[in-house]
Amino acid sequence: MTKAPAILFATSEMAPWVKTGGLGDVAAALPVALRRAGHDLRVLLPFYPALQQAFPQAKQIAAIPPLAPALPAARLLAAEDNGLPLLLLDCPELYQRPGNPYLAADGLDWPDNASRFGLLSRVAALLGQAASPLAWRPDIVHANDWQTALAPAWLHYQGGAASIVTVHNIAFQGCYPAATRAALGLPEAAWRFDGVEYHGQVSFLKAGLQLASLISTVSPTYAREIQDEEFGYGLAPLLRHRRDHLHGILNGVDTEIWNPATDPSLAAHYAANRLAAKRANKLALQRAMGLAESADRPLFGVISRLTAQKGLDLLLTIGDGIPHLPAQLAVLGSGDKAMEAGFLALAERHPGQIAVSLKFDEDLAHRIEAGADCFLMPSRFEPCGLNQMYSLRYGTPPLVQATGGLADTVVDVSAATLADRTANGFIMADGSAHALWQAMERATTTWQDKRLWQRIQQNGMRRDFSWSHAATEYSQLYRDALATRT
Ligand code: ADP
Repeated sequence: MTKAPAILFATSEMAPWVKTGGLGDVAAALPVALRRAGHDLRVLLPFYPALQQAFPQAKQIAAIPPLAPALPAARLLAAEDNGLPLLLLDCPELYQRPGNPYLAADGLDWPDNASRFGLLSRVAALLGQAASPLAWRPDIVHANDWQTALAPAWLHYQGGAASIVTVHNIAFQGCYPAATRAALGLPEAAWRFDGVEYHGQVSFLKAGLQLASLISTVSPTYAREIQDEEFGYGLAPLLRHRRDHLHGILNGVDTEIWNPATDPSLAAHYAANRLAAKRANKLALQRAMGLAESADRPLFGVISRLTAQKGLDLLLTIGDGIPHLPAQLAVLGSGDKAMEAGFLALAERHPGQIAVSLKFDEDLAHRIEAGADCFLMPSRFEPCGLNQMYSLRYGTPPLVQATGGLADTVVDVSAATLADRTANGFIMADGSAHALWQAMERATTTWQDKRLWQRIQQNGMRRDFSWSHAATEYSQLYRDALATRT
């Protein structure tokens, strides 16, 4: 077998140090799985204050001169995180800032984000080029989201490694004024509709999608959906044009942190063949959240950012009916103020049957996954989604809309899917509040049949959501990207 390609994984986030969304989790887990799969992989990310604290012993390995008017001089430092090599891009005037990596304290984008992530992209490309200051050279530069998506542009125009861009969230694209092209040192030839130009601006993400050897996103269904105007945020035509180069690879989950047999947050541990102990978690959750300790009705759980994307306005529409199903509801989430107020009012109208906690609480999230009977995720779009996978692992069948990663992981209960033992949850017939209600009615009725419910739980718990699956698929993608070069 040929040697696994060497990879530079370029990212603007990495959990636990810097995380605003799914990219942070992926950057923490996927590189480890890829190294286990035999890839010589290094992670490139800015030397933010949180990284400086975590790796005070990081050593300088290269100096990078100013490469363009808006790209100041920088340094590359090397560190290791449990054996994972990190390349830390140090440029205090760009990255020495507290808090969120993209936003200032006033909640607005840092005004120099084009330089901050232009530099990150430029250095990612440089490390894949003959002019690299390092002896180590990747075969593939793997860019993630708009913040590193300009890297393929330099590799395309100047030559170097093959490239991949992974879309974790297509809503954020990194668009800046036309003058940014020269300021970042991109060649004039790049100013084309099939280059970095997008409606008179430089678009980082569009450039990457246009010029990368291959594109991926975080689930097969989302890969199809973003080719539609409704989901593509303006980039659907380009993605349709490149559909033969676009792949969907489902994210994994951390199967050590999310394991009901060992989870330290739980009242009782359980597994697919020891499901009876799950009941103690329901009782503990009911107590903790002030719900009546009734065993005769299912408890629906929600853990979510409260935003329109997550479809929880649908739940508010039908919420008053839940106690009459009969069922209970436990909500953990925060976000949109009107939605927060709506859930609080709902809980006040139904004490003992509906409980709401408006905070971010990892421990409670684990206890809801274990204590609920059924997990609600009526998202309007969901590139991959994590909570439905946690729910499947926790024997808490998810109830979802058929979109993105939800459609790729949840299999609706039917005669056929029960027969082939794939049934593991409930899918709404459409995106309406009525469809959510109908699916909740169906779940409530199904839950009454304890043996049937157990089969559904076990089907979900048996499925493997570890990162090693995703790593195998990315390995193939890397080989395919290299093949586009020959
Ligand atoms: P998204 O990244 O769009 O918010 P995901 O389902 O992919 O949605 O991931 C959400 C992650 O954030 C999950 O790990 C979930 O448990 C966690 N989460 C969201 N809201 C809360 C909260 N209020 N408290 C604890 N964890 C939360």
